[in-house]
Amino acid sequence: MPVPRLSAPTDAIVKITKTTICGTDLHILKGDVPAVSPGRILGHEGVGVVEQVGDAVKGFKKGDHVLISCITSCGKCEYCKKQMYSHCEDGGWILGHLIDGTQAEYIRIPHADNSLYHVPEGADEEALVMLSDILPTGFEIGVLYGAVKPGDTVAIVGAGPVGMSALLTAQFYSPSRLIMIDLDPARLEFAKKFGATEVIDSSKTNAVEAILGSTKDGVDVAIEAVGIGPTFDACQSIVRPGGHIANVGVHGKSVDLQIQKLWIQNITLTTGLVNTNTTPMLIKTLQSEMLQPQQLITHRFTFDEFPKAYEVFGNAAKEKALKVIVANR
Ligand code: NAD
Ligand code: ZN
Ligand code: ZN
Repeated sequence: MPVPRLSAPTDAIVKITKTTICGTDLHILKGDVPAVSPGRILGHEGVGVVEQVGDAVKGFKKGDHVLISCITSCGKCEYCKKQMYSHCEDGGWILGHLIDGTQAEYIRIPHADNSLYHVPEGADEEALVMLSDILPTGFEIGVLYGAVKPGDTVAIVGAGPVGMSALLTAQFYSPSRLIMIDLDPARLEFAKKFGATEVIDSSKTNAVEAILGSTKDGVDVAIEAVGIGPTFDACQSIVRPGGHIANVGVHGKSVDLQIQKLWIQNITLTTGLVNTNTTPMLIKTLQSEMLQPQQLITHRFTFDEFPKAYEVFGNAAKEKALKVIVANR
């Protein structure tokens, strides 16, 4: 694609070295995100090297190795001041959505000072690509909003990249049980490797009955990482008094809130779009190897193989795919 030009003094142009494909990109291709206009370059995750910066960019210069956040933030508006970058009045999720994204040789990054992070010396580029979107999403909207605590029993519904990211980062807090629920046996096998203490194949087993049967009165935290009615219902049925339901899934339809049962249960229900305010902290856990998100990468492609990469990622169950890396070389 043509090299983009700076359009504001706060912009940077970044040469992409590695990017990936998100489930959201598949939704866009299906037409589920009408704000995306034809011809838009997709992608909101990636790592690269700064090619050029505008006069107002102070924290980055040509040649800097950077991680691109899926959320663009000005750092100055009311929401940015509250670290709710996802609602930035001049940013939020715009890459590969309202402006061109990371799945090309070069990208223009608005508000570069707040939307890029320096790659630490010697850090694994592929692992870092997982920090653009899925790791902060699973951590912030699943684990932190769900208030996972030591000793908790945590159920995660949906073993996709986002559910797996919640699984990896929930372990920062030493929960006693981490139960992963999905319909895909291959993903459940991955989940066991990544630290799930139990897995439930809900195509074969009634997950709600299994969890209620194996706990005193349900789970402390139920993380919804699918985005459909039945999985949200499952979360409502398994949460124990005082527990948390952390909804991460993007829902296209309304769900049935069982308020007549839940009002007396002192539960907390949270929702949210990733803010990426924890990215600096996640970079440190990656350096210390407490977090090893490169485990999520199942396939690798180069830029000339993008159609193939989409095909594999779009048939994730058949291909046993979780996250793909697409490298510019
Ligand atoms: P994914 O499609 O790869 O994973 C979803 C998983 O759910 C799959 O493994 C699938 O087998 C499983 N599943 C489907 N139906 C199920 C059922 N009935 N019971 C149990 N499991 C079922 O998606 P992902 O990339 O991991 O993302 C998960 C969700 O998070 C999506 O809805 C995505 O749009 C959303 N998301 C939210 C944010 C945010 O900021 N809130 C950010 C990124 C993604
Ligand atoms: Zn995404
Ligand atoms: Zn802002």
